[in-house]
Amino acid sequence: MPPIDETFMQAALDAARSVAGQTGDNPPVGCVIVNGGQLVASGATQPPGGSHAEVMAVRAAEAGGHPVAGGDVYVILEPCSFTGRTPPCSRFIVEKQPRRVVIGLRDPHPLVRGAGIAELRAAGIDVVEGVLAAPIRQFLAGWLERFA
Ligand SMILES: [Zn+2]
Repeated sequence: MPPIDETFMQAALDAARSVAGQTGDNPPVGCVIVNGGQLVASGATQPPGGSHAEVMAVRAAEAGGHPVAGGDVYVILEPCSFTGRTPPCSRFIVEKQPRRVVIGLRDPHPLVRGAGIAELRAAGIDVVEGVLAAPIRQFLAGWLERFA
């Protein structure tokens, strides 16, 4: 497994910043897909009812002809693991078979709180937490404070 590259998480955070204030009561999340050491796609959370960042990034990678299987997913917040207005991102990611998911912070939402990470790990996906945690905590302060 190659080392974690923080520049990819920075790219995910940049994608998140691009939708700040546009995601209603969902957290503004950014996600990038890395394969073969290259950033192949990025995505960000859409307005309420639209796709979450992970789905946007995976679809962009696939649309560009880049498989997610065997690659890395970098996402600033733990993937959601429950059905809300959209299906759970954790199951969606498991179906795509990346080898690793790199996460900034755990999601403090009461219906997630580590359950997304647990689902990924149970599927044999390597999960790394806490990458660029400080700037992500600052960016997501509004979301984090809601569940403090
Ligand atoms: Zn989600």
